[in-house]
Amino acid sequence: MTHSGRSIVVHVALPLPLPRLFAYRTTAPLPPGVRVRVPFGARLLTGLVMPAPDDEAERVLRDIAEVIDSLPLFDVDYLAFLAFVADYYHHPVGEVVFSALPPSFKQGRVRGDLPRGLALTAAGKAFDPALFGRAERKRRLWAAIGAHPVLPPAAIAGLGKGFARTVKELMAAGLVERAALPAVWADAAAGPPLRDDQRVAVERIGATSGFAPFLLFGVTGSGKTEVYLHSIEAVVRQGRQALVLVPEIGLTPQLVERFARRLGLAPGVLHSGCTPGERARVWEAAQDGRMPVIVGTRSAVFVPLKALGLIVVDEEHDASFKQQDGFRYHARDIAVLRAKRAGVPVLLGSATPSLESYRHARDGRYTLLRLPHRGSGRAQPAMRLVDLGREPVADGLSPSLVKALAVRLDRGEQALLFLNRRGFAPVLFCPECRWHAPCDRCDARLTVHLARKQLRCHHCGRERPLPSTCPQCGHARLVRLGEGTERIEDALRRQFPAARIARVDRDSMATRAAFAEVVRRVHDGEVDILVGTQMLAKGHDFPRLTLAAVINADQGFYGSDFRADEQLFAQIVQVAGRSGRAELAGEVLIQTHHPGHPLWQPLLRLDYEAFAGLALRDREMTGFPPYMFCALLRAEAKDADGAQAFLRQILALQPLPQGLIAGAIVPATMARRAGFFRAQCLLTAERRTLLHGWLRDWLPQVRALPQARRLRWSVDIDPHSLFF
Ligand code: ADP
Ligand code: ZN
Ligand code: ZN
Repeated sequence: MTHSGRSIVVHVALPLPLPRLFAYRTTAPLPPGVRVRVPFGARLLTGLVMPAPDDEAERVLRDIAEVIDSLPLFDVDYLAFLAFVADYYHHPVGEVVFSALPPSFKQGRVRGDLPRGLALTAAGKAFDPALFGRAERKRRLWAAIGAHPVLPPAAIAGLGKGFARTVKELMAAGLVERAALPAVWADAAAGPPLRDDQRVAVERIGATSGFAPFLLFGVTGSGKTEVYLHSIEAVVRQGRQALVLVPEIGLTPQLVERFARRLGLAPGVLHSGCTPGERARVWEAAQDGRMPVIVGTRSAVFVPLKALGLIVVDEEHDASFKQQDGFRYHARDIAVLRAKRAGVPVLLGSATPSLESYRHARDGRYTLLRLPHRGSGRAQPAMRLVDLGREPVADGLSPSLVKALAVRLDRGEQALLFLNRRGFAPVLFCPECRWHAPCDRCDARLTVHLARKQLRCHHCGRERPLPSTCPQCGHARLVRLGEGTERIEDALRRQFPAARIARVDRDSMATRAAFAEVVRRVHDGEVDILVGTQMLAKGHDFPRLTLAAVINADQGFYGSDFRADEQLFAQIVQVAGRSGRAELAGEVLIQTHHPGHPLWQPLLRLDYEAFAGLALRDREMTGFPPYMFCALLRAEAKDADGAQAFLRQILALQPLPQGLIAGAIVPATMARRAGFFRAQCLLTAERRTLLHGWLRDWLPQVRALPQARRLRWSVDIDPHSLFF
């Protein structure tokens, strides 16, 4: 704050794509971290008061219109951390600050009460469930709510589809009411006694003081979550808070339930599906220290915590931790930065760590904690490659796979078929004139969706009716090439008419509840064959599942992306983890055209560390992360050469120092998307400081160009993928 005459100048972060703070005048001093309303052009915007920057060359513009908060939402340390993050990602500080606030706070929402759940009323407690008669859903809900003082909302979703209506009915009947979730939910249930490997891990984590990064390496079922729970419990007992980050797909009601039951408290849950009110309440309770444990997806990494004691990142390799547009941060990396600044341990868990984290652990910068146990009652499944060069496939199914499926159906066991493509077929093709249904706005083929009789572009969303004849030559027999989940489902129904088949992908599973319902059906043995995308790969225990198959593994090895190998490995380990128990031996079939690839050896043994050794050597030779530090420049323009010309122009603004390399300016993998021509250029440096220092000097020059306002462009720091 500076005094100029009788007024005081404060610096305000605004949710705008401009890389600076804005100076405003006020008459009374304002602490950093409070929200204000300020005039900006003709609008009034909500902003956040920041600590004064070092350079204060800004001209004082106008007066603050209104002060919203009496107490700061963030302390000065946390604001400095956000400013540091903005600087690291070279992203406008206002957008970074506002991504750390619940969206409703942009409108200046006032602070509210505790998160709420459901409880039985006095009448509900006295109710005789026999009176429900045959209303099974009401009975189940009543019992679930009655089992706890207050049931968290997430646990209701875990009951299955359509329970929201049942909740309303029981509320209308006066049996159930909304009630504040108590910090202490119930008595904590004791977990199993720890094995030695787990105990050593918990002790080492607990023995740290200050910042300490750990990589907890163990397959699904090896007991990582038990280690998290014990470490969290210790932190909570000291009156401090734990932040747990999980991938989008990992945040299931079952997980929340397990945390609640074991810790004896209701964790605050933050994910994209939360209502604005729920999000704001959890955020506030986290910020002022009332909420001891927060479990959330990517953006939860920014939740301020009064007494942070531990950060856990489960499935730390998961791609959903990287934001792919706008403010392109990586939540795992931010978690590590945050733990460092807060001086607390950070626990990264995975069965298939990112090569970045694994290298840190191998080189001793992170403590590597191995959990070698496979989990009780689990056996390693038999892994088998199916050579698609030798076996003819019909609709994606090889004879080996069909045979393996028939055996499972015979024995009443379950099978899971896994592939990464929605829809029926990726391509509609005319054998006569070689027409391929193209998207007119992208360099992409339209995907056939038979159920809706549509062609759909998975990149821009364009939809067209499915033609029955070739639009180019009129030929009547169009051929559908390739496989999507719909087509596999269709082929299975023809092959096994009596089998009960369920498909799980974004098209068939519109809601969380629909997904929970399928999971329940599989669990209860009402499904024989499950076909799906990666939605299926993690986190659900299906006791009768003995066969898992990967329909086409080759995208993994021959995709043009440098992380493709790592992702394929992770996928196969997850798929393998779905299959097999001690009493029911599991099998994994992987269909590939390239059975000779060297990475199959460690893969078929599910030997992550051997795989990582090979893959890291590859990365070192080819000059990719974690050996090099990268920033990906991207541009999109309406005219054919605009994007490439722009990249050429901006790269010429400032010479590159020794050790910083700009790759070729090339069209993006998809050179045209949604009507925009796209180009990219990868910057690589051996030292992070070299890359970032250069960007810091260079970006203001780019932003000052008039052209920079006429097309879309971005800088992606530590890009997850070169696909664009
Ligand atoms: P992960 O998080 O690695 O998948 P979990 O912690 O969820 O593993 O453990 C898998 C299963 O094994 C769970 O049902 C858990 O209760 C059980 N389990 C974990 N540790 C032990 C142990 N020490 N003794 C007995 N069962 C355990
Ligand atoms: Zn044709
Ligand atoms: Zn398109």
